[in-house]
Amino acid sequence: MQTTPIPSPRADALVSVRDVSMIYRTRDPSGAALQTVALKDANLEIKAGEFISLIGPSGCGKTTLLRLLADLIQPSSGTLSIGGKTAQAAREARAYGYVFQAPALFEWRTVQQNVMLPLEIMGFSKPEREARAAQMLKLVGLEKFARNYPWQLSGGMQQRASIARALAFDPQLIFMDEPFGALDEITRENLNLELLRLWRETGKTIIFVTHSIPEAVFLSTRIVVMTPRPGKIEKIIDVDLPQPRDFETRESARFFEIATEVRESLKHGHGYEVTE
Ligand code: ADP
Repeated sequence: MQTTPIPSPRADALVSVRDVSMIYRTRDPSGAALQTVALKDANLEIKAGEFISLIGPSGCGKTTLLRLLADLIQPSSGTLSIGGKTAQAAREARAYGYVFQAPALFEWRTVQQNVMLPLEIMGFSKPEREARAAQMLKLVGLEKFARNYPWQLSGGMQQRASIARALAFDPQLIFMDEPFGALDEITRENLNLELLRLWRETGKTIIFVTHSIPEAVFLSTRIVVMTPRPGKIEKIIDVDLPQPRDFETRESARFFEIATEVRESLKHGHGYEVTE
């Protein structure tokens, strides 16, 4: 059996994934036991302040890795740690914010009330909740829409509101599961730019799931290329494009070189349909 060497621990790692495998055990329609190896021998160390994208085709274990880190599920083997804590302790300490593919805002609460919700749950005082919500809404450019309801906003604005909500209690780490996947290309490119500004201004660590090669290259400091059957980390690619990035970044020769490298890695893992 092939084994992946475990890297030596890095003292500066905020997130550490060590030899993690995840096997889902279910049953097929006839009732026979079924096993899916969603993630096999994953190793990953992430430093504070990085912007990491997880990229790969459907079924390669991206969401599984994010859900393991968020302690929404537990690994079949291996260990995960966040800030030196177990994933469970990190969840209990509210060490991260989570942005889902769908904005998941409550329709009966205003944008401001949605952003304040996690602060209410955590017992922040009313003035503190209002001050933080105002600050976060300003950060995502929604200060004029605080009193609107989610259904009065465009899809892109709703996603901004859910980002503000994830940032409200000031976690160091943000998980984002294809937050812009359902948006049109132009809105998505604008939000990519906004997200990079936000990342620079706040110094957060972001782990971002995407299907899009240009999105991953534009946003990330490193790209984790994943391939399916079984889900595994195929390669980790450094993105050395200078910061701050802007629309011209997407037209630079280096951008295309890195995009090609990502595409080649996906092909190498047979995770990418080659149409040439
Ligand atoms: P991705 O996010 O890359 O699309 P996932 O992590 O959602 O991939 O899924 C990886 C594999 O695990 C897929 O084959 C998927 O069908 C399977 N899987 C995901 N969640 C479950 C579950 N709760 N029960 C059984 N199988 C699952």
